[in-house]
Amino acid sequence: MITPDPEAGPPAPQPPPEGFRDLPSVDRLLSDERVAGLFPAHGRGSVAALARTVLDEYREAIAATGVRPATPLAPVIETLLARAAEVFRPRLVRVVNATGVIIHTNLGRAPLSAAATAAAQRVAAGYSNLEFDLERGERGSRFAHLDDRLCRITGAEAGVAVNNNASALLLALSALCRDREVIISRGQLVEIGGGFRIPDVMRQSGADLVEVGTTNRTYIEDYARAITDRTAAILRVHTSNFRVVGFVEETPLAALAALARERGLRFIDDLGSGALLDTRDFGLQAEPMIEDSVRAGADVVLASGDKLLGGPQAGIAVGRREAIEAMRRHPLARAVRAGRMTIAALSATLDHYARGEAVDAIPVWRMIAADPDLLGRRARRWSRACGAHAVAAAGQSTVGGGSLPGEELPTTVCAVDPPDGDATAFSAALRAALPPIVARISDGRVLLDPRTVDPSEDRHVEITLATLCGVTPPSGEAAAGR
Ligand SMILES: *Cc1c(COP(=O)(O)O)cnc(C)c1O
Repeated sequence: MITPDPEAGPPAPQPPPEGFRDLPSVDRLLSDERVAGLFPAHGRGSVAALARTVLDEYREAIAATGVRPATPLAPVIETLLARAAEVFRPRLVRVVNATGVIIHTNLGRAPLSAAATAAAQRVAAGYSNLEFDLERGERGSRFAHLDDRLCRITGAEAGVAVNNNASALLLALSALCRDREVIISRGQLVEIGGGFRIPDVMRQSGADLVEVGTTNRTYIEDYARAITDRTAAILRVHTSNFRVVGFVEETPLAALAALARERGLRFIDDLGSGALLDTRDFGLQAEPMIEDSVRAGADVVLASGDKLLGGPQAGIAVGRREAIEAMRRHPLARAVRAGRMTIAALSATLDHYARGEAVDAIPVWRMIAADPDLLGRRARRWSRACGAHAVAAAGQSTVGGGSLPGEELPTTVCAVDPPDGDATAFSAALRAALPPIVARISDGRVLLDPRTVDPSEDRHVEITLATLCGVTPPSGEAAAGR
């Protein structure tokens, strides 16, 4: 809504229709130099549409209040320009994640490695052999690009990548279990996040859910007793985002795989987080590893591409060739297939594991393995940029993204006491920076964790903090030298 300037004239109860004549025409607005300056970036048509919207709002405001702006052109142009800045602002932008949550689903999960980013960019900008066999010069399969890599790294017979793990699960159940029963433990009927619930996916796939056991305890006999001639599979879902402690019994992986094999059923293992490195090597709890499930004999193992695997959004299914082939052939495979940028980035990410360089090359693992001394130095430097308004303090980072719930990595944070005491306003101001900086608030202080911030973004963080704290920003050399 636009409120016309109240100084413009006395309100008239019934505005004469000819009052609208004083508003500029769309063409008049578009001929303004500054408005025309928007065309190259946003297109004349979009600007014209916006101009019409703004003029309509003026007409409504005039009709509602009866107040007519005295000199309509200048304010209308100002309004149009302000609106354009708002409307044409890019919506999806890079942000600095200073929350200390490494796999932050709201912030796009895993950042890609330099090689994965470059690989995606290369195929993005040009043509590629996405579905073309270069050797034979004929149509090829987009599934061919990842198959051998997935097999080499996980030990599986075959692999396929789709849009995300939710679609991998939907595809596996649809292709392998439709109109038949799937047995799952009551302790694993979980909600992954954003309303994504395992029972709903199973219903969607056309498989019939058979619940066994209890929330905290499910034994192999529970599964065995539930098998009928309609049973297609046993499904295990890793309870990735919460932990049940105390009187708990989960049926071991190998026992489930053996039972499935004995009774001619498929064993589908949805791991979610998809670890290809052992989290225990980094002082964390064990997170199930893809290759362990493959070795235990799972027919299909499912994982996300952008959780602990550290790649692009994708769903990975590896396992027995015959089961993976059935998934590839299913009509849904087309609907949930991965695009060329995803395949390129995932392939480059998997290569880091194959070359044994994942911890250094893949940002998620680099952040998990970050040197505590270095984190401390960076947090202290950020704090100094705030003058007297911040201290470096011991804190906790988390892995996040539905993996390792409750697990924390010791870190050092920059803890800001905002000059005016308003932590909410201070963190909003951080988010208004370009690029936006997302921090955490705890006990009235704004906490920034260097673990999840790429060192190349440190300058931006320091300058923004200094500016918001009213301190002269550190000079380039001084900051670099410290
Ligand atoms: C995260 C998760 C999913 C969903 O994966 P997306 O890649 O986000 O679709 C499915 N199952 C489990 C066990 C998960 O942890």
